Amino acid sequence: MGVYLGLILWRTKCLVLCIFMTFMLGCFIALTPITSDVCDCADNQPSDLTERKTEEQTYQTEGDKAKHKLAVLVPFRDRFDELLEFAPHMHKFLKKQNINHQIFVLNQIDSYRFNRAALINVGFREVCPECDYIAMHDVDLLPLNSQLSYGYPESGPFHVASPQLHPRYNYSTFVGGILLIKRHMHDRVRRKRDMTKCFNQIQVTRHRDLETGMNTVSYKLAEVRQMSIDDAPVTVLNVKLHCDKLLTPWCECGSNNPSVQRTATASKLKKSG
Ligand code: UDP
Ligand code: MN
Repeated sequence: MGVYLGLILWRTKCLVLCIFMTFMLGCFIALTPITSDVCDCADNQPSDLTERKTEEQTYQTEGDKAKHKLAVLVPFRDRFDELLEFAPHMHKFLKKQNINHQIFVLNQIDSYRFNRAALINVGFREVCPECDYIAMHDVDLLPLNSQLSYGYPESGPFHVASPQLHPRYNYSTFVGGILLIKRHMHDRVRRKRDMTKCFNQIQVTRHRDLETGMNTVSYKLAEVRQMSIDDAPVTVLNVKLHCDKLLTPWCECGSNNPSVQRTATASKLKKSG
């Protein structure tokens, strides 16, 4: 009987312990934020970034901030679901830092291949004359660490998305993307990228282009529209880029590009001749 009672007591103890542990585990899970896909990159790379942040934070007082205005230039085509996340996030993030700002979506509506650099040039030329600094901003990069300052870069360009923090471009000469990454949304299937290099594109674009750019970008601004995504005001510029197919035939890779045909045939002839 005594043994029997002891066994019951022991089982009850185990049961209570199990219930207690399950309860504690439940509490732990409930209190842990769901951030498994979030990279608080600044925390992973404290030294470099913290140093630069400190610099950034000390040069700008609240009073200074009011004097400056930031134009956020977003090169864009067919990434609406990302924009729905980007605009409210950025607006909230910048508002928290008291950054006077406006978000511009540079929407490429022609049928040429996507041209990020040309769109940024168009944005720079077309928007916000009162803005005294810009952020070239990919739509799929979200700043996460609120310590990262988007303040006026008094001492020269500030590359927020330093190479160590970029999930794909971690070579020292990388400049792009700009921001800390909350999560990288590339999906090879859902979001195919146009990585084609047609005809002599590789040889030509490998060299630094000293001729074309801001002054030569040719386009038509088809429409400017104001919209808001949640409470984030966004200005959308519908841009039709022009393309000099003799100069940059790869703006259109397909067989419907007669100059590509000509160039390709010419280079083939040259090579074999
Ligand atoms: N982008 C776009 N539509 C495209 C390709 C690119 O809107 O079809 C824009 C978008 O802002 C994107 C940026 O260009 O974040 C850079 O392209 P992507 O993210 O594909 O390249 P990554 O530099 O990350 O390799
Ligand atoms: Mn990207």
